[in-house]
Amino acid sequence: TITTRDLQHLFARIAEDMAKNRDRLCELDGVIGDGDHGLAMDAGCQAVAKAVGELDSTQTAPTPMFNTAAKAFLNAVGASSGPLYATAFLRAGNAAKEKQALSADDFLSVVAAMVQGIHERGKAELGEKTMMDAWGPAANAALDSRRRGASLSQCLAAAVQAARDGCEATSGMIAGKGRAARLGDRAVGHVDPGAASAVIMIEAMAWFAS
Ligand code: ADP
Ligand code: MG
Ligand code: MG
Repeated sequence: TITTRDLQHLFARIAEDMAKNRDRLCELDGVIGDGDHGLAMDAGCQAVAKAVGELDSTQTAPTPMFNTAAKAFLNAVGASSGPLYATAFLRAGNAAKEKQALSADDFLSVVAAMVQGIHERGKAELGEKTMMDAWGPAANAALDSRRRGASLSQCLAAAVQAARDGCEATSGMIAGKGRAARLGDRAVGHVDPGAASAVIMIEAMAWFAS
């Protein structure tokens, strides 16, 4: 099972990895957006790791921990990714259903709920060159693997592969949402920064479950 202590470690790892990739994410966003995506994701993830890290894990269930994460991310991020990930973390909290710890199936439900939240908040469909093009295939791959009897770490490894493929595929897409939509076919040939940061978050989840 996954405890709130584990979730604190996971958020700390995500924050570390996002910091390492901050400049690369800003560069990607500089090409088809406004160049702040690395700063936004780094600030958001550091704020989440700090807020969640300050909770007493012995006194806190996953649901309030995800709610704390949502609030911290939203407060730290002024960019579009702010409300998208805040919604994702709120939905994660709902999916955790006031349990004290999460089973493998609970954790996969949490991931699926995050993706559904991003989808409903941002209204992006697959193929619109957004973070959905990494998150959507990742969630589908994880749930498909589970139906075929895979372990949590196998499911998340499948999610990583699907997210990487989905992220690469954004390069060939015209954006339907976000700043890159203004560029029309001039955005083709460039990977979406939000899909790239999604891959980083999903890789951290897979590392943590392995
Ligand atoms: P901003 O464009 O406000 O500077 P960020 O740079 O933080 O925001 O995030 C940009 C990323 O957000 C894009 O690369 C894309 O993946 C994602 N994004 C933008 N709009 C949407 C949306 N409506 N739905 C899902 N993702 C979106
Ligand atoms: Mg930006
Ligand atoms: Mg911006």
